Amino acid sequence: MINVFQPSLGKEEIGQIEKVFASNWLGKGKIVDQFEEKFAKHLGIGKQHILTMGCCTEGLFSSMKILEIGKNDEIIVPSLSFVGAANAVCDNGSKLVFCDVDSRSLNVTAMDIEKKISAKTKAILLLHYGGVPCDMDEIMKMADSYNIKVIEDSACSVASKYKGKACGTIGDIGIWSFDAMKILVCGDGGALYVKDEEKAQFAEKLMYFGLETKSGFSNTVDSKWWEFEISQFGHRSIMNDITASMALVQLDKLKTFIDRRREIHNIYNENLKGVNWIDLPPAIDNDCESSYYFYHIQTQNDKRDELAIFLKKNDIYTTYRYYPLHWVKQYGVNDTLPQAEYAAKNTLCLPIHQALTNDEVYYIIDKIKEFSRIYQI
Ligand SMILES: *Cc1c(COP(=O)(O)O)cnc(C)c1O
Repeated sequence: MINVFQPSLGKEEIGQIEKVFASNWLGKGKIVDQFEEKFAKHLGIGKQHILTMGCCTEGLFSSMKILEIGKNDEIIVPSLSFVGAANAVCDNGSKLVFCDVDSRSLNVTAMDIEKKISAKTKAILLLHYGGVPCDMDEIMKMADSYNIKVIEDSACSVASKYKGKACGTIGDIGIWSFDAMKILVCGDGGALYVKDEEKAQFAEKLMYFGLETKSGFSNTVDSKWWEFEISQFGHRSIMNDITASMALVQLDKLKTFIDRRREIHNIYNENLKGVNWIDLPPAIDNDCESSYYFYHIQTQNDKRDELAIFLKKNDIYTTYRYYPLHWVKQYGVNDTLPQAEYAAKNTLCLPIHQALTNDEVYYIIDKIKEFSRIYQI
């Protein structure tokens, strides 16, 4: 079976993990620190704004506390978002408001958001779909004019840039994922960007029990190192030196990963453009850089589900991201969002990962063309 997503790990990662074993310190230590520094540099921001954590979902949940979002506040989330984004809002007791997205890019626009803004709106929690940046100038301008916060779910955007700025560093908070299905992987892990430095310090404590003092959990204090004080009921969400050692190597490889993904994206574009019942993903703006996390096509003829089954029978696994959250009963939101619903019915994400061979990519393309012949479309 050709996987839709797949990590690329090798000897280099194992070599670094061996060093961590030898050091006898597996917890959060020097290596996590090195990764934070290198990731901040990769994003082009100061290290004091960056914090690693156990996973990206932790960052989504914590963003509510960091931005002091209350029970009476409304948070706008594009319906085509990751389930954890909406869960974060509901878990906080805040009011979840879904908005529509562009039917072709599946990214949210300033206009989609503006339609859902009320006097109670406190933030927009947006997503850069498949690593293609949203139009952040328009969104930030609109958000500023209504005085609402912007949270960027950049889980798919580890190398994405909007007009030279890393996705996730444009709004008030950005969050990245390094889980097993992402581009830069370390098993599980995430990173959080907080624009406001005071809030960044608050976030750091929130991720470690709310501890205020070095004692209790540190050997850097000369006496009574078991005493401590806390300022809040913090969580415990950290990376450790094993996962960070993997992430460091993966960060070195990131550029080659993205280059290969771009190549695959271009091969699909070049060879599927003649298939007249398929819409290709919209071209990426010249002033933007994608991470090429998804390659999504859209069927014009209600054949999406049949195509997915046909490809699966031919050992090609595809999927659709993201199932509309306004269709999930548990959220209790009754709304009709036509663009999101169109996208949900017609979009299919084809395999894209750096380990795919050209032969595999052409095999997938051939099978899609074979499907056209069988259905005479
Ligand atoms: C993977 C993903 C997440 C969650 O990341 P974890 O690190 O697995 O918690 C959140 N948002 C999006 C868009 C994702 O793709």
